[in-house]
Amino acid sequence: MLPGMLPGTLNGKTAIVTGSTSGIGLGIATALAAEGVDVVLNGFGDPAEIERQRAALADAHGVRAAYVASDMAKPAEIRCLVAEAERRFGRVDILVNNAGIQHVAKIVDFPEERWDQVIAINLSAAFHTTRLALPAMKARGFGRIINVASAHALVASPFKSAYVAAKHGVAGLTKTIALEGAEFGVTANAICPGYVLTPLVEKQIPDTAKARGISEAAVVRDVLLAAQPTRKFVTIDEVAALAIYLASDAAGSTTGTIIPVDGGWTAH
Ligand code: NAD
Repeated sequence: MLPGMLPGTLNGKTAIVTGSTSGIGLGIATALAAEGVDVVLNGFGDPAEIERQRAALADAHGVRAAYVASDMAKPAEIRCLVAEAERRFGRVDILVNNAGIQHVAKIVDFPEERWDQVIAINLSAAFHTTRLALPAMKARGFGRIINVASAHALVASPFKSAYVAAKHGVAGLTKTIALEGAEFGVTANAICPGYVLTPLVEKQIPDTAKARGISEAAVVRDVLLAAQPTRKFVTIDEVAALAIYLASDAAGSTTGTIIPVDGGWTAH
């Protein structure tokens, strides 16, 4: 439990964390489980490895953990995810919209289908999950919607047009959900991490090197960490700690916020 939090605040609650087979989503799902939250995992990967992660989460923290393999680019599969979470755990108290992908290319070279895919997974999926989960949250008088946006919800970088557009969209969606949920005990907030060394970032280093015509080492030093005054990657634990706070009762009046966890990047 985080210092200053009321004991038992999250114990027994239920959560969906999209894109939680890797990186930040897995970190948030693990942190929620450690607080006693039953968690629905989602995302791609090797089925045996996902089952190992699911069982480990349940065993380590004494919670229920389920896995639903919905593709967050497909609204029909998103309906299955929310319905399955409600069927297994009875309700969804906490919805973490985290699934995301990146594509790095100049606008003039940006493949149309990659634009559509980035917008579908990084932005539209959060609308679809929210649309489905919100009515029951409002009816019960409690809900926490946590959108994992990015520093790119606040500032742009070249060669990331779809991602920057999607993440700015997530910021707007977050504020709208906050306004519509405010009288019903439902909060919505966006976490905006700077660079976290996950597979999503590792994969874009070679593409960024190509787009900028520099070495991969120079990308890490002069592009990624140069953006962050701390000169350090943000850690998954730092992002997960904020998610736990936002999910808690203590954050009941924190809604509609767009919170950077970016080593000072957007303070420039
Ligand atoms: P990651 O690649 O480690 O994890 C992404 C997760 O999303 C995986 O579980 C993957 O299987 C899942 N996913 C991808 N496409 C999916 C789809 N169509 N349907 C369902 N699941 C899908 O990446 P990460 O860095 O942990 O990113 C998680 C979130 O954090 C993303 O929204 C990303 O934009 C955001 N973010 C990451 C960073 C960073 O530096 N890593 C910074 C800011 C924001």
